[in-house]
Amino acid sequence: MKKIAILGSTGSIGTQTLEIVREQGDIQVTALAAGSNIRLLEQQIREFHPKVVSVWDEEKAKALKENIRDLDVTVFGGMDGLLAVAAEKSAEILVTAIVGMVGIRPTIAAIREGKTIALANKETLVTAGHIIMPLAKEYHVPILPVDSEHSAIFQCLLGRGNNRVHKILLTASGGPFRGKKREELQNVRVEDALKHPNWEMGKKITIDSSTLVNKGLEVMEAKWLFDVDLEQIQVVVHPQSVIHSAVEYEDGAVIAQLGTPDMRLPIQFALYYPERRNLSGEKLDLFQLGSLTFEKPDTHAFPGLALAYDAMKRGGNIPTVFNAANEKAVAMFLERKISYPMITEIIEECMKKIEFVQNPSVEQILETEAFAYELIESRW
Ligand code: NDP
Repeated sequence: MKKIAILGSTGSIGTQTLEIVREQGDIQVTALAAGSNIRLLEQQIREFHPKVVSVWDEEKAKALKENIRDLDVTVFGGMDGLLAVAAEKSAEILVTAIVGMVGIRPTIAAIREGKTIALANKETLVTAGHIIMPLAKEYHVPILPVDSEHSAIFQCLLGRGNNRVHKILLTASGGPFRGKKREELQNVRVEDALKHPNWEMGKKITIDSSTLVNKGLEVMEAKWLFDVDLEQIQVVVHPQSVIHSAVEYEDGAVIAQLGTPDMRLPIQFALYYPERRNLSGEKLDLFQLGSLTFEKPDTHAFPGLALAYDAMKRGGNIPTVFNAANEKAVAMFLERKISYPMITEIIEECMKKIEFVQNPSVEQILETEAFAYELIESRW
């Protein structure tokens, strides 16, 4: 039986991972971590019987401990809890389905324990790819992408042999505001931005998808995962979200991965790689689909994508600035403290103001995050 641990088990990716576990019936869950949703976590504990669990919110961790005192489960809180779940001895795979840079340290801990990483938490690679990728190599640990686009690229690269990649075609749905002009985005409300046309996801990534910042984060994630030049990654807007991404080889052959927009497919592929299992639900029907369309991204209306390329080109701690400023700005937008266009204005301003650090350590990455937060709090 395969054994897995999950960081962020109560979220969108976490719950879908557990759906697969439930459906397939041959995976054992050894450890779970959540932020604060102890009601759902308790249900998960009673159904999947992990040995170790953690809750970020220490008060809630105490309450959970009390609620499950009839069970033989160790409950931790805070960062110690995340590290305990990540490094839980018996798990072979760690699914990183947590949001934000808080995933960096547990991911490092899991790699050091030799665990395969099924990576959804893109913020970790965006900000600390220069630490994570060499470490994974050193410990011979596979990093298997869970993001649907990166899973698609990974699948398109299987069996490439010595053939050289010319281009990665990273598809984007374009989000709910595709086709809108910059001026039309001035008064976007939280509820409008939370309506993604094709995917059901957590709030933060849904907002990121609407601003194309998510695509920018994915460009950086792809660069780390597949070790290509930034110029080789081309974003293609494809509103139907059926082609999850594609790879163009040197001879001009383009290999794409297609499927219905269902995150369970990439999650399941990462859990069972290299095996493919049956997945319940609708299969792709090309006749019903009729046509697939493609557009260039509008980086004037959605400057987040161009800023991401710029951040990655500059390197060092600038991707961290990009990511941290976005995390903070999105949280403020969700709290209705700033307008929608301010999200990318804040990112741009922070990228101008925060001091450059070449090759930052984990501490310097976290310091950069704190600087970005301070700057934003003092100015907006
Ligand atoms: P959600 O917001 O739905 O879930 C986040 C999960 O992380 C929840 O379980 C939450 O717990 C937990 N969490 C948040 N902060 C902490 C913390 N400090 N300590 C422990 N647990 C914490 O997010 P998604 O599932 O949408 O996204 C997760 C990651 O996957 C992100 O990096 C996202 O970019 C990436 N991703 C998501 C996709 C999707 O389809 N959703 C697609 C591709 C990538 P609680 O709810 O208890 O607070």
